[in-house]
Amino acid sequence: MCEVFNGNMISLRYKAIYTLLEEIRVMVMRRHVERRAYPEKKFKGSFGDRIWPKIVSAGNASGDCHIVAREGDAYEVLSGGVRYVVNLGRRSCSCRGWNLTGIPCKHVYRIMVHRKEEIEEYVHPCYHRQTFLDTYQYSLKPVEGDRFWEKAFHGVIDPPELRKTNPGRKKKEGCKSRENGGAPSETRAKVQRGAFVLASSDNPPQSVADKAIADYSQQLPTQESQA
Ligand SMILES: [Zn+2]
Repeated sequence: MCEVFNGNMISLRYKAIYTLLEEIRVMVMRRHVERRAYPEKKFKGSFGDRIWPKIVSAGNASGDCHIVAREGDAYEVLSGGVRYVVNLGRRSCSCRGWNLTGIPCKHVYRIMVHRKEEIEEYVHPCYHRQTFLDTYQYSLKPVEGDRFWEKAFHGVIDPPELRKTNPGRKKKEGCKSRENGGAPSETRAKVQRGAFVLASSDNPPQSVADKAIADYSQQLPTQESQA
């Protein structure tokens, strides 16, 4: 169902959001109206025109089926030298045709004729005319155009600011400022100010080793103190 929906709106995908939603709404509304008239054209009796050929085919092929025995809801059917078990309670057959499609296979059809029951009892309800009508019984209500909509007084909403971005990872602030030759970032400026203080004449730059030697030399007795 999703694939069908996507296939119908391929041409709408590249439109603006308002136009896209509006055209999807109209598409769904039209579809429901068309589908409600569908059973009159395409349904023969209780089922659609694609189901009846399968039922007729199963009926024609059921001539070689023979009911061997019955135990409760389970029937043993012999067809072409092969034995099949049809369980009416579980709605299953050994050929798996009835299980997978919900449409009777030839083995089930043979049992249906034997029991003299109606075909509607053996076809899954999803194929029934009434199920189809129930699916499309509701539709979208007609909607007035935007000229008749209530005005919302919140001002005009501007579109977001258009920013030019380059592909790839965003560069760091420091790299960007160095490349552009512009002012350094705030962090870089702080480091530079600190470096200037250390590098001034009153505070010559010192490594950790120099500072340790200087501290040790201050602790040593001078010649004046020894005298
Ligand atoms: Zn079968």
